[in-house]
Amino acid sequence: MNLLPLKTQKIRAELFSLGKKYVIMIFNANIISRKEGDGLLKRSFKGGVHPLSRTHEGKYLTRNKASQPFSPEYVCIPMNLHLGAPSEPCVSKGDTVKLGQVIATPVGFLGLPIHATCSGEVVDISEKQQLGPKKVMCITIKNDGLDTREDCLPDIGTCATAAPKDIVERIKQAGICGMGGAAFPLHVKLMIQDEKHADTIILNGAECETHLTSDFRTMLESPEDIVNGLVAIMRAMDSENGIIAIEDNKPEAIAAMKKAVEGHKDIEVVALKTKYPQGSEKQLITVTTGREVPRGKLPIDCGVIVTNVATAAAVKAAIEDGLPLTHRITTVTGRVKNPCNLYVPIGTVVKDMIEFAGGYEGRIAKLVAGGMMTGPAAPNDDFSVTKAMGGIVALNAKEAISYEEKPCIRCARCASVCPMGLNPARIKQYCDANDMAGAKENNVMDCIVCGCCSFTCPANRFLTAAFKNMKDRITLASRLGGKK
Ligand code: SF4
Ligand code: SF4
Repeated sequence: MNLLPLKTQKIRAELFSLGKKYVIMIFNANIISRKEGDGLLKRSFKGGVHPLSRTHEGKYLTRNKASQPFSPEYVCIPMNLHLGAPSEPCVSKGDTVKLGQVIATPVGFLGLPIHATCSGEVVDISEKQQLGPKKVMCITIKNDGLDTREDCLPDIGTCATAAPKDIVERIKQAGICGMGGAAFPLHVKLMIQDEKHADTIILNGAECETHLTSDFRTMLESPEDIVNGLVAIMRAMDSENGIIAIEDNKPEAIAAMKKAVEGHKDIEVVALKTKYPQGSEKQLITVTTGREVPRGKLPIDCGVIVTNVATAAAVKAAIEDGLPLTHRITTVTGRVKNPCNLYVPIGTVVKDMIEFAGGYEGRIAKLVAGGMMTGPAAPNDDFSVTKAMGGIVALNAKEAISYEEKPCIRCARCASVCPMGLNPARIKQYCDANDMAGAKENNVMDCIVCGCCSFTCPANRFLTAAFKNMKDRITLASRLGGKK
């Protein structure tokens, strides 16, 4: 039986007609419907879009492709694999390194060590162009193909027995950051102040972005690792509840995770309605717990920590197997001859993965690092896989068509799909007028840069790009103490 699309003004009438079969909860105009009966709770939020065309969805290309290992001839490992200051190389050109050996040390509060992702010889340490505007220091290793491994990190027990402080320290030692896109160092998320308590840990398995299936494959291929990693994070935080949230277009993953959590009474697998951006942190918290992250605050301010399913699997490997984060599953898809999921060393160069996938299918007009909705466009394929890169999407000219921006027709569609309840058309006026104060007053800083407004705008207004640019400028201005 399907969920009924309830309108706010009809809620009372629907409650009467449905009797006790449904529970309806309202949080700041977000409607969360719980369906009882089949054991699955399908939950959603207000706003969002359904990117369903081939161009904008495309998961079918790789969802049935099991991850396969790929070992490139070289890896080029950027020093900015995580949010925060880039790490400092601690090896020299000509050194021989082992898989898992520390090759760069952390810098600053958000710093993380970086490990060799294959064994071999360091052949270059220099600045190289990656995805961002500035060149980044990179360590290039010629892979000897032997995967000679550095000694594993010392035994600290299992995910269910390790001491909480050892778990947090191990997560840092292993260089684990969020693998879902933000690359925020996980140990920093877990170093919360004494008066705050995360009673709930949410694992994000929504993978609501288009084309990507790397998290889906991780859930199918390593469900027990994900659950064990979650157990460790809950133990580190003394949390009572664990939630694994998955969109309902992945029934196989829901089934695999439900089987893996059997016996864990404090962990629930929650099915979410398939809608973009269901995996966005604030939306995920609201639909799974009913809590709202206050404006300008963090998830921990409402007692929640969110991380990604692949990150949890990396936590398990770090604790129980003593392995740092050196590999990940990355989807290679779109206009390539053999779309696939590859298990690759971090630092694998994208052009090598494309070649492994059979090369491009026809002429390529655009390459996107990540999904179509939020992934940045890459100028070429000479950049490296990072810890947070879930996939690469190649598009032809028809799919990558760039539109001409036209005047706003005041249709309000952008406001109707904004999951943050913003008025994108109005904020764009302030962006166009270069008015930082006006944009701020209209809450541009609450924009999660999800792209829903741009996706739906019939006038092809460049909304999301303008908001990202304005947010960056406001952040920079506040760092400079309001001088600019
Ligand atoms: S969707 Fe586009 S055209 Fe419609 S109000 Fe928003 S900005 Fe204007
Ligand atoms: S204004 Fe920001 S949060 Fe709202 S739809 Fe646009 S990009 Fe998403």
